[in-house]
Amino acid sequence: MSTIQRFSGQLALITGASGDIGLAVAKRLASEGADLVLLGTNGDKLEKAKRDVAVSERHVSTVICDVSDYDNVEAVIAHIEKNIGPISLLFNNAGYQGVFAPIHKYPPEDFKRVIKINLLGAFYLIRAVSPYMVQRKFGRIVNTTSMAGLQGPPNMGGYGASKFGVVGLTQVSARDLAPYNVRVNGVAPGLMGPGFMWDRQVELQSKVGSQYFSSDPEEVKKQMIGIIPMRRLGDIEEIPGVVSFLMSEDASYITGVTLPIAGGR
Ligand code: NAD
Repeated sequence: MSTIQRFSGQLALITGASGDIGLAVAKRLASEGADLVLLGTNGDKLEKAKRDVAVSERHVSTVICDVSDYDNVEAVIAHIEKNIGPISLLFNNAGYQGVFAPIHKYPPEDFKRVIKINLLGAFYLIRAVSPYMVQRKFGRIVNTTSMAGLQGPPNMGGYGASKFGVVGLTQVSARDLAPYNVRVNGVAPGLMGPGFMWDRQVELQSKVGSQYFSSDPEEVKKQMIGIIPMRRLGDIEEIPGVVSFLMSEDASYITGVTLPIAGGR
């Protein structure tokens, strides 16, 4: 883990902070000097994440917030800005994978839920945080999209559509906020594991009964890994350094891009 203190004096807000990727990025940014606000929906999990981050001398706060509720998001951001500190860095990362079903059977209610959390949630965070960044003429935002937002996997209609949306949101936000020294980029993890999302998608893809995947989960694993040029899953630990890079001044001339972290494409 890096010991460069390049985010010293900066406050990073991380959504989905008690999840695998959010927590790994939280640890990395804290190790590089950032103070943190961990945002999630479950107080116990957030407290555990706070203990796990545990970098001495870093200030770590937790806030409970449903990213799919704009009033909640706006109030929480106002609270952070007033009582904790100015948000310089936003890792816009909360997400929900949705059900697995072909589009002609996809449950409309679940599609709506996925869009609300992944796309509206990402917009709500940018909408609520960016006015403060614009006013201060400084901000670094990284959105977590997915390879599903660049290639469109089968049986993941809600998820794929929402993540394509986040790629577009990243480009538009980057253009709108460029005049104010606010950079907006994205990361697109591919198949990361081990972890909850990998296990869940292997199991659910095997149950869908499509032409793309076997009904045997072990075979599904081989099929999925077989289409990755590097022929292996990504490790969650291969994500934080990329997020940190995009937030840092090493990426000072980069905005509006979504970087795949996917073993090739
Ligand atoms: P995870 O399930 O461990 O974490 C997701 C987090 O989002 C959880 O902490 C959850 O509580 C939070 N969340 C969900 N709905 C929320 C809501 N309404 N309000 C606030 N928080 C909410 O999964 P992860 O692997 O850490 O995923 C993080 C991000 O990375 C997600 O956006 C996901 O789509 C994306 N992603 C993950 C993978 C992967 O393989 N793990 C691959 C590509 C993209």
